[in-house]
Amino acid sequence: MPAMSDGTPDSPAATDAAGKPTHFIAEKIEADLAAGKFNGATEIVTRFPPEPNGFLHVGHAKSICLNFGLPRAFGGRCNLRFDDTNPAKEEQRYIDAIKQDVRWLGFEWAEERYASDYFDTLYDWACKLIEAGHAFVDDQSGDEIRATRGDLVTPGRPSPFRDRPADESLDLFARMKAGEFPDGGKVVRARIDMASPNLNLRDPVLYRILHTEHPRTGDAWCVYPMYDWAHGQSDWIEGVTHSLCSLEFEDHRPLYDWCLDTLIGLGVTSPSGVTYRPEQTEFNRLNLSHTQLSKRKLRALVEEGVVDGWNDPRMPTLAGMRRRGFTPAGLRSFVESAGLSKRNQTMELARLESSVREDLNRVAQRRMAVLDPIRLVIENWPAGHVEMRDAPNNPENDADGSRQVPMTGELFIARSDFMVDPPKKFFRLGPGREVRLRFGYFVTCTGYETDDAGHVAVVRCTYDPATSGGSAPDGRKVKGTLTWVSVEHALDAAVREYQTLFATEDPDEGTRGENPRDWHANLNPDSLREIRGAKLEPACADASPGQHLQFERIGYFVRDAATPTDGLGRPVFNATVGLRDTWGKQQKKGG
Ligand code: ATP
Ligand code: MG
Repeated sequence: MPAMSDGTPDSPAATDAAGKPTHFIAEKIEADLAAGKFNGATEIVTRFPPEPNGFLHVGHAKSICLNFGLPRAFGGRCNLRFDDTNPAKEEQRYIDAIKQDVRWLGFEWAEERYASDYFDTLYDWACKLIEAGHAFVDDQSGDEIRATRGDLVTPGRPSPFRDRPADESLDLFARMKAGEFPDGGKVVRARIDMASPNLNLRDPVLYRILHTEHPRTGDAWCVYPMYDWAHGQSDWIEGVTHSLCSLEFEDHRPLYDWCLDTLIGLGVTSPSGVTYRPEQTEFNRLNLSHTQLSKRKLRALVEEGVVDGWNDPRMPTLAGMRRRGFTPAGLRSFVESAGLSKRNQTMELARLESSVREDLNRVAQRRMAVLDPIRLVIENWPAGHVEMRDAPNNPENDADGSRQVPMTGELFIARSDFMVDPPKKFFRLGPGREVRLRFGYFVTCTGYETDDAGHVAVVRCTYDPATSGGSAPDGRKVKGTLTWVSVEHALDAAVREYQTLFATEDPDEGTRGENPRDWHANLNPDSLREIRGAKLEPACADASPGQHLQFERIGYFVRDAATPTDGLGRPVFNATVGLRDTWGKQQKKGG
């Protein structure tokens, strides 16, 4: 099996012995290539087509892994195409963020394209449709068009402008383009079948008027193609063979085909010279529990200040997950494990965390940290003595070497590692009990002191110098090993811990899910907790932004890339995931 870092699909369940994916789309590709489809092409061409109206999220990761992964497996290439046909919502900063996120996931596109690159061609082709009587300019308003569309049991009513002469429509379309009419004043509609059982074929709108500056074409255009007129044609222009999209476009496929077949019937050819036309295949969307995966709703969270931007570590965006400390390999293996089907799915967040944890276990360097500290005083430690203890950076990877951890007679240990009156099964420290200090010695508790509020503040102990190697020469055993940080050397840090953004598995639970305000009810008020008094071993000072660490016995953490230090100059770390794998455990139990 290839290494995960190269982005090759590698879930054993979804690949064959040669490492090729085996799902229904892979099967179709294999069959298409064998049958000499696409004019005998031996390679495939795909595209990932985001609309630059927000940041990419984990659902997009599924589409990215598929569109970029298939040409890697079968030969071919994948374009990154921005579907920038709605300038009202699209921005350059989203384009920049999308490129960064695709690269971060481990993929590089063959070409960077924009639907707006094709505005001239799409306009010309729409004129050809009009000339041939396959499209017309409609003066009706959006409301009128909607009201006459009919429904699943009632056919639509034809527009009174449906049979207007082609010359008149062509002239009006030119005047629409010239800016003579206001937004919504007129549209171009395909002339297909108002009684079609597929509502998308009831004279769908192909062009609308929008007097809005476009991030790339500026004010050159005030008519913009609709998705259905831009997408298939862009695929064809780029020589795409397999146009993969999520299930909600299934009902659009007849229209996708109609547009291309009608153009081909009119003798139009693709500027790329390909003589085949692309085929659309749909796959299921990925949803994730405890979060929204709709850009519109994610944008509302950003705009209402519920989160601190698109890259808030609680967001399901790739930028948020990166900042949270999730790894590209962890995300890739998660979306591979989700598989492909024709039924939409909701994946458990715990499963994503499990994939990320597995990858972090391989790559994260180990450090000691105490998030809620009390003091441990070693009474028989030589005054002023500092001992450098050797600690491997990652037991999973010898090449990571080791570091020196300073040990002294006064340490921080976790409050939860001491109990005044511990039950039998508590294997940590209590009066009279002996434990091992990680990379250190055996210590035996001799007493403790409380503060004014009655909370334990200091634990006293003695150490056994004969246990330097981590075991006792006389063979006596201890059950617990505590992590610690030297008081004198401790690095003060700010640590941010996250819970799910929504308290309910389904963020829309109990709401109709439409009005963003509705689901405020399900927001988790405790999704962010700031720990201010954390103490870290000094090696953590070198952690670069984005570097993954395991704080031993606690979990995985990452130096925050957006605010590497807080207002007090302390390093800031984000908690990524805990060490306990609830998902993996459930699976083992067969639950
Ligand atoms: P939204 O409707 O929330 O804005 P979108 O689907 O319109 O999201 P696009 O930018 O158009 O977002 O998506 C780019 C590609 O990613 C499309 O081909 C789409 O099918 C795919 N995609 C988007 N969301 C998911 C998802 N949750 N699971 C799988 N594929 C997805
Ligand atoms: Mg879309």
